Amino acid sequence: MSLEKLPSCDDPFDSLMPVEEARTRLSQALNVVADTERLALIQAHGRVLSDDVVSPVNVPGFANSAMDGYAISSSSIPESGEVTLTLAGTSWAGKIFEGRVEAGTAVRIFTGGLMPEGADTVVIQEHVAVSDNQVTIDSEVEPLRNVRLAGEDVKANQRVLQSGTVLNAAELGVLASLGINEVNVYRKIRVAYFTTGDELLALDEHAGEPLEPGMLFDSNRYSLRSMLSRLDVDVIDLGIVRDNAAQTRAAMQQAAESADVIISSGGVSAGDADFVTQVFHELGEVGFWKIAMRPGRPLAFGQIGDAFFFGLPGNPVAVMVTFLQFVQPAIKQIMGTRTTDPFVIKATCMSTLRKSLGRVEYQRGVLGNDEKGNLTVTSTGKQGAGRISSMSAANCLIVIAADVAGVSPGDSVEVQPFHGLFA
Ligand code: AMP
Ligand code: MG
Repeated sequence: MSLEKLPSCDDPFDSLMPVEEARTRLSQALNVVADTERLALIQAHGRVLSDDVVSPVNVPGFANSAMDGYAISSSSIPESGEVTLTLAGTSWAGKIFEGRVEAGTAVRIFTGGLMPEGADTVVIQEHVAVSDNQVTIDSEVEPLRNVRLAGEDVKANQRVLQSGTVLNAAELGVLASLGINEVNVYRKIRVAYFTTGDELLALDEHAGEPLEPGMLFDSNRYSLRSMLSRLDVDVIDLGIVRDNAAQTRAAMQQAAESADVIISSGGVSAGDADFVTQVFHELGEVGFWKIAMRPGRPLAFGQIGDAFFFGLPGNPVAVMVTFLQFVQPAIKQIMGTRTTDPFVIKATCMSTLRKSLGRVEYQRGVLGNDEKGNLTVTSTGKQGAGRISSMSAANCLIVIAADVAGVSPGDSVEVQPFHGLFA
């Protein structure tokens, strides 16, 4: 990766970089993990296909009945009145009827049963009168009904899945239906993360203890871990790094040796305690971006060795927002995923939202419906970047463009639902 083309915003008087530009530059700087592996389908949940999949077969492989009923030839349907057909046998799902359906005969058939030769129509059982081994149908029966044709779901030689597709329930079902038991996927990537700050206490070591003045529990660690667990990556937790150069350097070096992606929280401003900034300058190919967004203005991005590094801000809401807007799409791209953009919908805003011009704001909102069923969104209230409870009160981010000065009730706004994003 060449970072020469990436703008550096070390100068505090540099103008802010628009969000879209940061997204584009980031995407251009990344590359997909090169290694692939072959996995049994049962192991492949959540993984990303590294090859297109072409169907070796038709699905369904044979014409079969979509209903329980009677398989007939449409030539048996009378022009008017009724006709009585002789039952010649039964076609069960998994137990075929060997004979042929001639005009004047019918075969009892169940859903999934192979259509016997000569039959092209299934009359559902509610539309026939049955006595002994005879069924009576009338002229109302429609020809060519209730039959699933061979290949109507997937045709042989059709490309069913594109490389870059994430294998979830539907894709695994499709592959299994094609009889494909092994797939080529990108290898899992390793993501190392650490939090920084002299004020942080590790919850797992200090739970139940009273907090000394000035101290707080490391919450970013938990949010980051949880958001990462939504992605199919291996995580390496490097714990809390104190505000000094030696520890920060050791953590970054250790991370660079073991991981494809490194994430830190805190210490990326230009203050005296911002050792991530200092050490990253020393070790990495650096881009410091001051992004025109709120929360989460400073974002350090670049490479340390072969690993991509993301230095997120420290404020808990800013950590989540910058992760979701930049790091999550970046990790998806590195994993080989084809579509990485956050899902955006429109909703009518029910609240007055204040904001300043010049930055995209990601405010916390609650999606709902009005009495007509239209999508609405309501603010969670105060929007400070340190109020992590506002994220938990919300179920979406309201994305307000840089050139918008504020939102009034009734305005249409763009919303990123949490569902699918990290919830
Ligand atoms: P920083 O970017 O390091 O100056 O941190 C900004 C704010 O976020 C400060 O109020 C920190 O105390 C807070 N903060 C930083 N890291 C964490 C963390 N891991 N968990 C909770 N709060 C944090
Ligand atoms: Mg700090």
